[in-house]
Amino acid sequence: MTSGGRLPDPQADARHSLPERIGRLYFRVALPMVAASLLVGTVGASPAAQGVLGALAALALLTSALHVLLPTPLHDPLRRLFPPVTIALVAVVAALSGPGGLRGDPLLLSVVLLLGPGTVLAWTLLFMDDARMGRLTGLGLTASATLLLWRWQQAGLQPTLTGNTPLLMLVACLTVVLYGAAFTEINRRFVAGERERRRDPLTGLLNRRAFDEDGRASGPDRWALAVLDIDHFKRVNDTHGHTAGDRVLRGVADAIMDVLAGRGQVYRWGGEEFVVLLPGLPGSDHTDLTVQAAELIESVRAEVARRAFTGGQRVTLSAGLSLSAAGEPLQAAFERADSALRRAKTSGRDRVVLAPPPGRPPAPP
Ligand code: GH3
Ligand code: MG
Ligand code: MG
Repeated sequence: MTSGGRLPDPQADARHSLPERIGRLYFRVALPMVAASLLVGTVGASPAAQGVLGALAALALLTSALHVLLPTPLHDPLRRLFPPVTIALVAVVAALSGPGGLRGDPLLLSVVLLLGPGTVLAWTLLFMDDARMGRLTGLGLTASATLLLWRWQQAGLQPTLTGNTPLLMLVACLTVVLYGAAFTEINRRFVAGERERRRDPLTGLLNRRAFDEDGRASGPDRWALAVLDIDHFKRVNDTHGHTAGDRVLRGVADAIMDVLAGRGQVYRWGGEEFVVLLPGLPGSDHTDLTVQAAELIESVRAEVARRAFTGGQRVTLSAGLSLSAAGEPLQAAFERADSALRRAKTSGRDRVVLAPPPGRPPAPP
């Protein structure tokens, strides 16, 4: 959980997402280093080489500066723009090269040979979350860099550029593109597996593991926690079968999500038990949160009681609700909500019971 009343969802925070972190590394560390080394290379170089190196360094520096200056939401457009512009720049240099035109020299040659495959690899990582873009930009740079070397070879680079250098460039870059694609696929499967690990396959809700993990993370100052349990659920299974029971579980999960409408996090804690976490909004106090949470969970209870699930089954649910004390571990608030749930069950079911604050005994029923 994050401060300011937001719920735990690390992937929702763009500043901490893996693609954003890789982007920062590339645009704020790698590119300035490349630009600096290109600028060092211009000292004593031929005027033509100075022009090419200067243009590449300027593009790298400008992009780095924009990455620092632009707000996070504009980092993605910047990352998508930079590779095509670089490819176009290399293609323009290739077009200007040739007999009678720009003739590459050993300095430019070493820059292309070293930076070409390295950049293809960097772009593969930069677009790890968008394999198509990674492949396209990699192939684009492979093509323009190979064309450039071929043009320099035609122009008779001195000392001689051996006949197979463009071919070696092509092979080196394509190898990186192929391995990059394999790496991206492995990463995609890993990310999908991570997401699956936190999901309940039956209802699609977050699962018990996610609840335990989120509970260990630091959270907002205040939050409400409700434990919800379907009443007499065993009877649904016993009377209509487990498939009907599964449908009811999915239906109840949908009803909870519909009522909450994004205002909290819902977990399937166990069989027919759910946990709802509601963050306190910034500026609201303990009483506000108690009233809001009690109203919301009461609405969930009423909605479940109102709905007829596929197959005509109707169920009710009982809930225990607790409000966290400052710095209280999630587990302690859970236990108080769970004990309030037991009171809801013993006092007749189909109701929401509010747990007393920590250290205070429950009010007599
Ligand atoms: P109470 O009102 O006291 O909560 O009674 P209950 O019948 O809901 O509670 P009990 O703990 O006796 O039974 C829960 C049932 O939930 C037993 C179990 O078979 C069923 N259950 C747990 N997980 C699943 C599931 O994934 N699918 C189905 N169909 N049933 C499940
Ligand atoms: Mg139960
Ligand atoms: Mg039950």
